Amino acid sequence: MIDLHCHSTASDGALAPAEVAALAAANGCRLLALTDHDCTDGLKQARAAAEVHGIRFISGVEISATWRERTVHIVGLDFDEADAPLQTLLAQIRRGRTERLHRIAEKLAQKGIHGAAEGALSLAANPEMVSRTHLAEWLVRQGHARNPHQAFAKYLGEGKAAAVAHRWADFAEAVAAINRAGGIAVLAHPMRYKFSATARRNLLQEFKNAGGQALEVNSGNCRPNERIDCALLADRFGLLASSGSDFHRIGGYSGGVLGISPELPPACRPVWAHFKVPFQAA
Ligand code: AMP
Ligand code: MN
Ligand code: MN
Ligand code: MN
Repeated sequence: MIDLHCHSTASDGALAPAEVAALAAANGCRLLALTDHDCTDGLKQARAAAEVHGIRFISGVEISATWRERTVHIVGLDFDEADAPLQTLLAQIRRGRTERLHRIAEKLAQKGIHGAAEGALSLAANPEMVSRTHLAEWLVRQGHARNPHQAFAKYLGEGKAAAVAHRWADFAEAVAAINRAGGIAVLAHPMRYKFSATARRNLLQEFKNAGGQALEVNSGNCRPNERIDCALLADRFGLLASSGSDFHRIGGYSGGVLGISPELPPACRPVWAHFKVPFQAA
């Protein structure tokens, strides 16, 4: 009944923010954070809908960041969404996204696939927030891939035909911006990065040093053994534990069921006990 990681049409999700809150509530959720990529535009609508449905709502965002030339995602929770430096950082990241979109489209054009930037923009509710998810959907609609997963495998994934290197926000700056806005920084889906165990430990140590407070122990449909590994890592680095579905769309890529997550392993210290108004799981 807790979900602290999900997406709406404010980034690359399929449901409007209010629909996300309504569906989460219908699924039995009691504590929800909407965490769109690099954007807080959906929070107002989602919060209002959460109130209507009688569930607790927490501000959230999933910041795209660069650590040692690799992309990692940092979820911010329970921050002041009016915080100017945080919004400046998010706006910078979104400008980089738009610039990246055109570089990806150029690479696709070199492969004979034209009009990708315009196509992806036409599928995005927010023109500043075009993600590879929109590009994947467009590629499928144009018949260049059978499904989004194949679009990533052929074109958009790391090292694939239309992959481009991109610099997101500096990793430590992203953590600091969340903290300065009064929020808690959570390292998202630690097992999804294709890092060696050593690199992952280095990442966690630097995250901790930068002021990061929590690790996403329950992430989407991660396997039970990954959950245990994450719990051990959280313990080792003195991090709190978070839970989130990473829901994007009904029946689509990624994520578990919106609004719910498995129980945390017993040794974990839940992040929601550290919100400004702590949440008491029943
Ligand atoms: P971006 O932030 O624009 O680079 O896009 C990353 C997003 O693409 C992630 O948040 C996922 O929603 C989606 N994604 C990543 N890998 C895959 C994949 N293999 N299949 C489908 N969607 C993916
Ligand atoms: Mn996404
Ligand atoms: Mn992510
Ligand atoms: Mn996500």
